[in-house]
Amino acid sequence: MYTESDIANLRAVIKNSKRAVFFGGAGVSTESGIPDFRSRDGLYSQKYKYPPETMLSSEFFWSHTQEFYDFYREKMLVTDVSPNAAHYKLAEWEREGHIAAVVTQNIDGLHQKAGSKNVFELHGSIYRNFCTKCKMPFPVQRIQKGKGIPRCACGGIVKPDVVLYGEPLDENVLDGAVKAIRAADNLIIGGTSLNVYPAAALVDYFRGENVVVINKGAPAKDMRGVTFIDGKIGEVFSQI
Ligand code: NAD
Repeated sequence: MYTESDIANLRAVIKNSKRAVFFGGAGVSTESGIPDFRSRDGLYSQKYKYPPETMLSSEFFWSHTQEFYDFYREKMLVTDVSPNAAHYKLAEWEREGHIAAVVTQNIDGLHQKAGSKNVFELHGSIYRNFCTKCKMPFPVQRIQKGKGIPRCACGGIVKPDVVLYGEPLDENVLDGAVKAIRAADNLIIGGTSLNVYPAAALVDYFRGENVVVINKGAPAKDMRGVTFIDGKIGEVFSQI
């Protein structure tokens, strides 16, 4: 658990920040009702024929396209959810000039829904989809409503613009995220196990003053010297 003084410290860091970066993951959206991977109620604890990392791999997409879409539609393609206090606070701090950028591993678009403008989506977004043959964009609603493998008018298979395991990150997004973290005065990390690479390595580019981690349980990475607040990020942020 955390104390009043943890909240006061975080408040001071945010208030004194002029270009902080928030780096987050699936835990930021659990309070909106989207399961993460590694929590007790996360996708790893649910019984599937294959682990989520297999079903969300590029290899699986091409070899088991129908099974990929069955899982993706049921578990990843969540659009009827709202941002929670964590998303809203980050958008507010950006407007107030404390946060320069949000770097997220999430694909759910909730930071933008909450009003954040400068968002680096390391793993892409469920809201962008395109034909793998002719590159035409494809509306997300048509993927949601359909049952089979979504196909473009040209016959090509449609793929979500999400970075599957085994695929490289988008160079421009990566470059923007690294630049923002390098220039940040403070780094706030939250709702991520820091297990997924190369995303988790980006926090090593930070050269600023304070690192504050808000997470349920300690992340996988050795984070000596950082301030760690063990709690739910929406609940913690709503007290700032
Ligand atoms: P993860 O599941 O590996 O880790 C989530 C971490 O957040 C855990 O340490 C968990 O204890 C913590 N957590 C859960 N709820 C929290 C809360 N309310 N407040 C604070 N901490 C909380 O997630 P990851 O590190 O992001 O890596 C998994 C990969 O799968 C990433 O690429 C991720 O984006 C993707 N994914 C995305 C979504 C999404 O877009 N919402 C959902 C599931 C997985």
